[in-house]
Amino acid sequence: MKIRTKISLSIGLLLAIITLLGAYAAHTTERSKRNTENILADNYNSVKYAQKMLWSIHNLETDSLLALATFSENLALQQRNISENAEDKHTAQLEKQFNTYRTAPSKANLIALSETINMIILLNGNAIEKKSEIATNTAHQALILMIVLALLCFVVAVCMLIKIPQTLTNPIEKLIEGILEISNHNYDKRLRFDEKSEFGEVASSFNNMAEELAQFQQSSMARIISTKQYLEIVINSIDEPIIGLDSEKNILFVNKTATAILNIPSEKMLKKSALDLSLSNDLLRRLVKGIDSKVDDEPLKIYTNDKESYFDVHYLALPEDSGIVIMLNNITRFKELDNAKTNFISVISHELKTPISAIMMSVKLLKDNRIGAINDEQSALAQSISENSDRLLSISSELLKMTQVEAGVLQLSPKITKPIELINYAIGATRVLAAKFECNIEVQYPETIEKLFVDSEKIAWVVTNLLSNAIHYSSDNARIIIGAKEVDNKIEVYIKDFGKGIDSRYHKTIFDRYFRVPGTKVQGSGLGLAISKDFVEAHAGTIRVESELGCGSCFIISLPKN
Ligand code: ADP
Repeated sequence: MKIRTKISLSIGLLLAIITLLGAYAAHTTERSKRNTENILADNYNSVKYAQKMLWSIHNLETDSLLALATFSENLALQQRNISENAEDKHTAQLEKQFNTYRTAPSKANLIALSETINMIILLNGNAIEKKSEIATNTAHQALILMIVLALLCFVVAVCMLIKIPQTLTNPIEKLIEGILEISNHNYDKRLRFDEKSEFGEVASSFNNMAEELAQFQQSSMARIISTKQYLEIVINSIDEPIIGLDSEKNILFVNKTATAILNIPSEKMLKKSALDLSLSNDLLRRLVKGIDSKVDDEPLKIYTNDKESYFDVHYLALPEDSGIVIMLNNITRFKELDNAKTNFISVISHELKTPISAIMMSVKLLKDNRIGAINDEQSALAQSISENSDRLLSISSELLKMTQVEAGVLQLSPKITKPIELINYAIGATRVLAAKFECNIEVQYPETIEKLFVDSEKIAWVVTNLLSNAIHYSSDNARIIIGAKEVDNKIEVYIKDFGKGIDSRYHKTIFDRYFRVPGTKVQGSGLGLAISKDFVEAHAGTIRVESELGCGSCFIISLPKN
């Protein structure tokens, strides 16, 4: 039933009861009035007439004419006002007695008249009493009925007071509840209202909406699941190990290759904390450690499938810090090729040393006057062969050093060394070269300086290489400063030239293997600085350059104090 109908019916019922109550009250009042009038008309008048007739009897002796006239008049009125049973009989008897008295007046007739009049008074008096009683009872009943009706009104009003707000608020409360459920993604929520009520339409619209949302959610879920499955297939079909972590470092996904190298089944990894799992897995611990340190340029050596494999680790940070993807690139094949190349270079550079030494020996003999005189042209050719052989020997020895570093067979024999020893060695080793270019080498050395604990042969080679570069990349008659100083708990050996300088773009890359600053005319292999870096880092030191184009360069080796 519609709420409007319910309210209308309730108010209608209340109105009907109130109308009934009013009508009944009016009717009862009217009836009481009529009863009173009847009593007045029927009985009170008869009593009045009878009393006047009694008065006439008493006054017969004093004023018989007036008394008789009054008697006759009231008797006539009484004869027209008969309302009670037996009243007509007494009235007729009164008339007869009055006529008798008129023909024969006597005391006895008067007494008879008085008795009959008293009878009429008694009759009407009883009637008044009876009618009053009936009127009182009727009024009492009317009062009870009106109280009942008023109570009924009260009950209906109270019911309306309780029910109507409930009828209005209950559906709204249920609707609010339903909307909250929907906002909490409970799309199974349905509203059941009386279809005929105003809220029936709201409920059916709500239910339709919930139904559509449920269907949408199901289709979205199906889409998400199929996308997830598709991504899982893609990730699993990638041969390279991949591990996905969320922002809390919980494992979101991991492919088969990753589970194989980690040696943990995927079901034991998914949704688990990588930090917890890393406590019992060395490889995972290294990978997780790398997330914060962001060091991913060192290849990772892993022993899998009965052989050593090498992986490049890449950390791919997801947008808005939502997680990180760890990707391992299998570089074993490249590493093997690199090793093969290193071995090849090592063998070649080693094998080249003997023939180059033989050539140098032969050229030295050729230039010896004791063997025979050679002309100037031949001497120049011999000099060129000698210089080129020198270069070839230095290149092959640099290559050999590089292969030692790459193969990881660099053997250090550290001993306590004064920095000045290294400087003096380098100056001595480049004396001929410095003389050739007429360079002026200045030494800056403090009075007291701590000693170093290094493989003096290797570090001396580094300093020599740097000094040789400074001479090569400076103009003739140039000034070069070589020195050492203490900085904090380190000792810095520096070689400063005032040559053409190095563009800041290349300050890092000059330490890469085979790299030469574009446009460099001086001949070289591009290996000297790379090997220097490896040697210095093998001593837990660092090498850097401070340089400005046109102002010269300063190479600084920083090594820990002894
Ligand atoms: P090489 O000198 O054999 O080419 P290096 O590794 O010693 O190889 O040097 C790499 C490059 O760095 C050089 O080719 C040169 O361009 C640049 N370089 C090195 N030292 C200096 C310097 N003192 N002044 C200017 N450029 C330099």
